[in-house]
Amino acid sequence: MSDCIFCKIVAGDIPANIVWQDENILAFRDIQPKAPVHVLLVPKKHVVTFDQLDGQWADTMVSMATAAREVSKIEGVLETGYRLLINNGADAHQEVAHLHMHLFGGRELGPMIKKAPQEG
Ligand code: 5GP
Ligand code: ZN
Repeated sequence: MSDCIFCKIVAGDIPANIVWQDENILAFRDIQPKAPVHVLLVPKKHVVTFDQLDGQWADTMVSMATAAREVSKIEGVLETGYRLLINNGADAHQEVAHLHMHLFGGRELGPMIKKAPQEG
């Protein structure tokens, strides 16, 4: 997709701090990190949301799992632990319309999700 920022990073048209890649996935540091380790794992082929993945994406999904493991080793968080997060659609605040998995680590990350006040 010509107007997609992550496709431009994959194509090398926009610079990024690349951590790891294979034929299916590019892993690069988030431009606004929310933790000492914050890496984005991005399919090299354009796809908007996680829920669009089907059997044709099997190789990409295996590469995504490999990417998480390899990036966690490179970043030194394999032993201490890390969090994987995919925002899927509007309620989840997906800001970039190209599927990406966040990998957070490097400190104690706190609870998984905050309750809204009315949820007690
Ligand atoms: P989302 O809210 O869609 O799950 O997360 C999008 C993420 O992409 C954000 O954490 C944001 O900081 C990151 N991001 C947006 N534009 C760029 C960019 O041009 N380069 C990099 N490295 N990260 C970006
Ligand atoms: Zn794209």
